[in-house]
Amino acid sequence: VFSFLLGIWISFARKLDRPIHRSMASSSASSFPGSVITMASSAAAVGAASSGAAGTGSPCAACKFLRRKCQPDCVFAPYFPPDNPQKFVHVHRVFGASNVTKLLNELNPYQREDAVNSLAYEADMRLRDPVYGCVGVISVLQHQLRQLQQDLTRARYELSKYQFCI
Ligand SMILES: [Zn+2]
Repeated sequence: VFSFLLGIWISFARKLDRPIHRSMASSSASSFPGSVITMASSAAAVGAASSGAAGTGSPCAACKFLRRKCQPDCVFAPYFPPDNPQKFVHVHRVFGASNVTKLLNELNPYQREDAVNSLAYEADMRLRDPVYGCVGVISVLQHQLRQLQQDLTRARYELSKYQFCI
């Protein structure tokens, strides 16, 4: 599952040119021109509350952050519930909302939850460790795995010495 997610991320990362990504991330908050106006009118705000994410009565964390109306077919709603706003904030800061929208629309629905969870984890790790991100954790775990495999091989060899003594 992890390598699958890594594969998705790598193919996504290849599509992203770094400077383009940055400019999109910085402009994505302003890429919804009607959003502020929509939320400013009280009638629209009531509409957003009644047609909120998954019938919970409030817009999803993404739409709330981007100050736009959460439509019934909102691509973010199933994966960014309103009770966990930080998840979207981190993903938006690292990847940009418009990139995440594009990624989710390109994936089959059954792949989206894994992809979002992977993006959320990678965003968290990138904010904690801006240089290595989740690659730092992966290399530590790979090192531990190699160490444990060596220990296992050594233990098996020691055990094989006693096999015929019983
Ligand atoms: Zn939404």
